[in-house]
Amino acid sequence: RQADLQQGLSLPCTSEDGMAVSLQVNADLHPEFEILGQAGVGGIGLFRTEALFMSFSQFPTEQQQERYYLKVLQQAPEKPVVIRTLDVGGDKPLPYLPIREDNPFLGWRGVRVSLDHPELFLGQLRALLKANLVVGNLQIMVPMVAHLDEIRQCRRLLNQAVAELTQELAQPVPTPPLGIMVEVPAAVFQLSTWLPELDFISVGSNDLTQYLLAVDRNNAQVGEQYDSFHPAVVAALDSIARQCRGHRFGLCGELASEVPGALMLLALGYRHLSMNANALGAVHYLIRHLELNQLAALRQSLLSARDSSEVRACLSAQLSQPP
Ligand code: PEP
Ligand code: MG
Repeated sequence: RQADLQQGLSLPCTSEDGMAVSLQVNADLHPEFEILGQAGVGGIGLFRTEALFMSFSQFPTEQQQERYYLKVLQQAPEKPVVIRTLDVGGDKPLPYLPIREDNPFLGWRGVRVSLDHPELFLGQLRALLKANLVVGNLQIMVPMVAHLDEIRQCRRLLNQAVAELTQELAQPVPTPPLGIMVEVPAAVFQLSTWLPELDFISVGSNDLTQYLLAVDRNNAQVGEQYDSFHPAVVAALDSIARQCRGHRFGLCGELASEVPGALMLLALGYRHLSMNANALGAVHYLIRHLELNQLAALRQSLLSARDSSEVRACLSAQLSQPP
């Protein structure tokens, strides 16, 4: 059945009532690249670069990174590839950058590390830009943003890297689209202010759930309380979708990899979903058998649900309807 579902990916991802949805794949060091050739898969929606950095015993050089990013971009030359800048710290330590903190998830991670070490960040940006000269499908995404000024600093450093390379290589270097992960609750409340300075956003539902519910995403003791179907998470996802009308927005957390999660996101208006390779077939099948314009009532009932079991019940009821 899984094999049948994956076969369906050769068809474009269009709902029963003719709406296009972009399904993309999440990937890291050992991506399942074969799937990118399928018509129903719209590129890479999240390429995590941490694993690359972890595979080295010291910071990889600009050249080592460039070689690697080029391989990634070339896997889907006709499709967008979103590469996320380094998201170390939290649950992803680097052996050669020891960080000792009492609260690592609230500490030095993601864009905070990049902006405190602009030389490392610039190296990563330059490697990305150089790889992109060959292919041209790169989009850059920054993790853990909580302040407008972080976006501005990233934009400034990206412009600086473009200007440096334009001079060094004596050829025009295109500026790729720049986006952020929406995964810190502060971002949910500030999005409409930030959007004019961004080319796209993608929700990181793993961290957004962790921070909204104050539940460590890796602590089994509180595992039951980590729940992306909590009404507060639903309300945040809906607020993001409302604020992003007219802008490109999507989601790349685990939530999109579960059929009920994907259904919820579609009902809230999400049309760009990035997920694990093995979830693509089932979500693609769901979309091809769904009338996306008929989900307004589901959205209303999701927003009225009082706890996560009511949220799940709304989704199960919809999923058990005959096609
Ligand atoms: C997320 O937080 O939802 C996400 C996609 O990023 P990561 O799991 O790498 O933190
Ligand atoms: Mg995250």
